[in-house]
Amino acid sequence: MSAAALAANHSADAAARIMARCAELRAISVSPDSYERLYLTPEHRAAAEKIIEWMAEAGVPARMDAAGNVIGRREGAEAKAPALVLGSHFDTVRDAGTYDGPLGVVTAIETAWALRGTRLPSPLEVHAYADEEGTRFHTMLLGSGLVTGLEGPEALGHTDSEGVSVAEALRRFGLDPAGIGEARRKPGEFRAYLEVHIEQGPVLEAEDLAVGTVTAIAGQTRANVVVQGVAGHAGTVPMNLRRDALAAAAELTIAIEAVARGTRPIVATVGEIRAEPGASNVIPGQVRLTLDLRSADDGTRASALQDIRARLAEIADRRGVTMALDVKSDSPAVACDPALIRAVDAACEAVQGRTLHLTSGAGHDGIAMARLCPIGMIFVRCKGGISHNPAESISEADAGAGFATLTRTVLSLMGDP
Ligand SMILES: [Zn+2]
Repeated sequence: MSAAALAANHSADAAARIMARCAELRAISVSPDSYERLYLTPEHRAAAEKIIEWMAEAGVPARMDAAGNVIGRREGAEAKAPALVLGSHFDTVRDAGTYDGPLGVVTAIETAWALRGTRLPSPLEVHAYADEEGTRFHTMLLGSGLVTGLEGPEALGHTDSEGVSVAEALRRFGLDPAGIGEARRKPGEFRAYLEVHIEQGPVLEAEDLAVGTVTAIAGQTRANVVVQGVAGHAGTVPMNLRRDALAAAAELTIAIEAVARGTRPIVATVGEIRAEPGASNVIPGQVRLTLDLRSADDGTRASALQDIRARLAEIADRRGVTMALDVKSDSPAVACDPALIRAVDAACEAVQGRTLHLTSGAGHDGIAMARLCPIGMIFVRCKGGISHNPAESISEADAGAGFATLTRTVLSLMGDP
């Protein structure tokens, strides 16, 4: 069947089922008032069982792997060929929205279902990762990380806020921590990874487009800054003799914003700031603030950080305070594969007449999967760009567009233009 016929035949039914299944998963939450499904919890187990059932119906028999991920696989005509992988995650943040993660999982299953009668040259896998958000163990990409080797056995030592380790949580969940390495897949097993995800930003909505092509997942620097001034009496120290750490931190915050507002494609955020001693009648002596810097281009990120350091030194010097910037983490950008970008572009154009290239400011499972194979991503418009929030919302029509785009992309990669 041609891609066009397939998309036309199935889009409306698929869209309705995708919405219904996202709602079904939404009901599997630690509490009915707030959406929360964390790694290695009874909700994780219940959602995995449902996903395994859906994958079986879609012709991709599935199992739970040693890390708690759900892995479905349908063999291709060439059994030894590397598999095309479709996937996303099914864990959530606290007080989550309905679509971040689950949309990609159920859309992948829907595409597999639409293709169940179609001959496929290579195997098709559908992956539903059990932990992407890292909410419980304060990590990132634990599920796909254990599949790809981004995470190893050292991951067993992470603990949750109650002091329960990943190893202990696996045991309580019914998995053997000693066998965690069995989740790991080998280079050469996969030919490509494709993920549908909500945009989590406002650009597609502003452009009046349902779907868009992701070109890269931004690299990210996280840093802490400590500003050390001198605390003093708010009434007795004259303005010209003060070393006010909070006023210096405020100036630095504005300088960081100015650096990011330049011509370079970068975003910078000071998201947390704490002043000590924190009393209305005391000049702040010490301030801690965070810096989050993201760009799809690592060189741009490095040069922006250099500019921020230069501004920091200048402000500290002029104000007679010290400022120390300590980089806590630095993860490089991950580019989507040019051939996959072209395939997604063509599918978007067929579905809605044109496409738009977007970089993802948020991290995704593709970062881990890029260790094993080329990756591609399709973004679906979400209302107001709102995500990680119960107000997260997409339209049924856009869910259909996401499905049609993914299905067309898969077919073109499988040799059906
Ligand atoms: Zn997500």
